[in-house]
Amino acid sequence: MHEVGLMESALEIVFDNAKHQNATRIHKVGMKVGALSGVVPDALEFAFEALVRNTIAADAVLEIELIPVTCYCPNCNSEFEPGEFSYECPQCGKPTGELRQGQELQLTHIEVS
Ligand SMILES: [Zn+2]
Repeated sequence: MHEVGLMESALEIVFDNAKHQNATRIHKVGMKVGALSGVVPDALEFAFEALVRNTIAADAVLEIELIPVTCYCPNCNSEFEPGEFSYECPQCGKPTGELRQGQELQLTHIEVS
């Protein structure tokens, strides 16, 4: 479960951030998880719950925003959501390797007090 390691790194940033703001409590942690990031949101949530125990983020809520895959077709100059096994443009039928989103795994916001 590499989600634990990922969450550890994310929380390092969160705690660092809280420290800089002289916060004593972390209320919310927001993350973007792309459909292609290889991360299982449930596992991420589980790792979060386990790692924040006995910290200033013990009562914090993890908000995960799931980002669908979006491809770009240079031929039609359009963006589309690919099918499960196909990256073909629905308009011209050409496959594209250009991904616009779906691979992200990032912290988006932190709420502290
Ligand atoms: Zn196209």
